[in-house]
Amino acid sequence: MTKLTDYYRELGIRSEVYRFGEELLGELKERFEAIDRTAEYNQLKVVQGMQKSQVNENCLHYYASGYGYNDPGRDTLEEVYAHIFHTEGALVRPQITCGTHALSLALGANLRPGDELLSPVGKPYDTLEEVIGIRPSRGSLAEYGITYSQTELLPDGTFDYDAVEKAINERTKLITIQRSKGYLTRPTFSVKQIGELIAFVKRIKPDVICMVDNCYGEFVETIEPSDVGADLVVGSLIKNPGGGLAPIGGYIAGRKDLIEECGYRLTSPGLGKEVGASLGVMQSFYQGLFLAPTVVAGSLKGAIFAANIYERLGYKVVPNSRESRHDIIQAVELGSPEGVIAFCRGIQAAAPVDSYVVPEPWAMPGYDSDVIMAAGAFVQGSSIELSADGPMKPPYAVYFQGGLTWGHAKLGILMSLEYMVRDGLVRLP
Ligand SMILES: *Cc1c(COP(=O)(O)O)cnc(C)c1O
Repeated sequence: MTKLTDYYRELGIRSEVYRFGEELLGELKERFEAIDRTAEYNQLKVVQGMQKSQVNENCLHYYASGYGYNDPGRDTLEEVYAHIFHTEGALVRPQITCGTHALSLALGANLRPGDELLSPVGKPYDTLEEVIGIRPSRGSLAEYGITYSQTELLPDGTFDYDAVEKAINERTKLITIQRSKGYLTRPTFSVKQIGELIAFVKRIKPDVICMVDNCYGEFVETIEPSDVGADLVVGSLIKNPGGGLAPIGGYIAGRKDLIEECGYRLTSPGLGKEVGASLGVMQSFYQGLFLAPTVVAGSLKGAIFAANIYERLGYKVVPNSRESRHDIIQAVELGSPEGVIAFCRGIQAAAPVDSYVVPEPWAMPGYDSDVIMAAGAFVQGSSIELSADGPMKPPYAVYFQGGLTWGHAKLGILMSLEYMVRDGLVRLP
């Protein structure tokens, strides 16, 4: 029988790299146990949601085509999401093509000409700039006469309550709060912090709609933004809640009237949520949701393992090795183009799919420098699967996330280190 250490060696991990990893892992036992407890809690939350809605075999295999009237799989799944997020309703559809689409849909559906949108947490995710019209773009909210304002975070990354109070006016209809730092350097907000901000905003203007971009945050904690006052929470099914199985899709959970608006915007006025065939993807949506708490736990362990490895080797890591986690993204500042390339090639070499491909830095639309991306994923672009990308510019940071299982995340991180060692970029202590 092949020994575990032989497998690592055969896959290309030298014994010094393996041993360095094992030493660090010894120190992470308590944190990993806490992650497993959160996953256990969220597992029960998901199972209870499915039981309350009496999910049955018909939900999984009902093959709706055409208009998709009365699709029990789709309608029940939306009820399950509402149970899990403790909301009045949800829209969970393969017709929502990605996270940006889900956010764009929630905004477009609930804003009208003359309304103002406020981001009280600084600049939103890059793709939202064109949705809102911060960067002029065809079809943006700006083109429909919806204005936008933004307040910056304080230097320590907390909310500037005075500025937020001043920014809220009689036209402020909706505020959008991005939970994850995404690819910025600010901290990711905890659900509790988000709740404090929402409470503050609602004291000033009780009828303002509070929306949270929940991408990368689902199931990281035992509560979600909808548990602390958010009227809408929005995310992508090829990130956390799809559990790696959903091949496409997005979700919006929240207040019933706001979700209905989203339905009318997604399909058509008058039709709303009544149409939209699910085309056989329902089993993957249910089963992915069922697995999501465990998958997120594996990703979190990977992120913490990477933070500890690279911090010990002297690199700046965000979040640092000890901070509490509110999303699954890990940034590592490698400080050189060679470092970014070696790291990403290591991640790629550990993939189950396309492991033999050698990623190269490349010009990408929307980026102002070349970018190198590593992904050997079952679902294109899925970032709940182990993936990394790095813009080829100072501070030469890689953003690393995902891992469908802890075992694979661990292999990927060890392989990134193996490539760094192989290229003479780090020396192990
Ligand atoms: C990924 C992400 C988005 C956009 O999702 P896509 O599926 O890439 O369109 C928006 N906001 C945040 C914080 C994200 O992480």
